[in-house]
Amino acid sequence: MKLLEQTLTQLIIISLAGAPAAAASEYVRHQAHAHGIAELTIALEGNRLEMIFTSPAMSLVGFEHKTSNPQHIAAVAKAAMALGDAEALFTLKGTNCAADDAQVDMSAVTASIEPETQKNLDAHDHHGTDDEEGSHADISAHYSYTCADIADLQSLRLGPGKLPFSLEEVNVMWVSEQGQGATVLTPENQLIEFN
Ligand SMILES: [Zn+2]
Repeated sequence: MKLLEQTLTQLIIISLAGAPAAAASEYVRHQAHAHGIAELTIALEGNRLEMIFTSPAMSLVGFEHKTSNPQHIAAVAKAAMALGDAEALFTLKGTNCAADDAQVDMSAVTASIEPETQKNLDAHDHHGTDDEEGSHADISAHYSYTCADIADLQSLRLGPGKLPFSLEEVNVMWVSEQGQGATVLTPENQLIEFN
């Protein structure tokens, strides 16, 4: 989706302002990764609502390395199921929106991976292996909705009364054809208002 890609590019440019070019990818990686803190990027375009949720794996499954340990695999499956349940995670107000798709990417912590995913991981993983001490891993999910009239969308609530996965903060950035905004969700406030 064009608008979402543009938003992500903008965010990276904003993050990079003032950072030495050589440290660019490291800078973004470390800025973006703090345990307990997740990111939610929202794009509203046409009748579509698209979201990318990114969290440190530690906050969702309790570890940040590839695993074949059965207990770890069970934690990954549980988190994948919770992340894939868009209707439980998000409450939209103002217009009727239907969740079309939820794609959860747990590849940073799963051992058996498809060749194509492996290629992506190799391209992204400048640190070397995930077994390295001090390495981090993120889990992400991409959600797509179709809405009756996106201009009527008033708010989006994350989680049923508290932040999911006991997250401490979710940094939200949204962009629409009319404007953009940012907010920080906390255990006390899970509401994103679009206006
Ligand atoms: Zn980490």
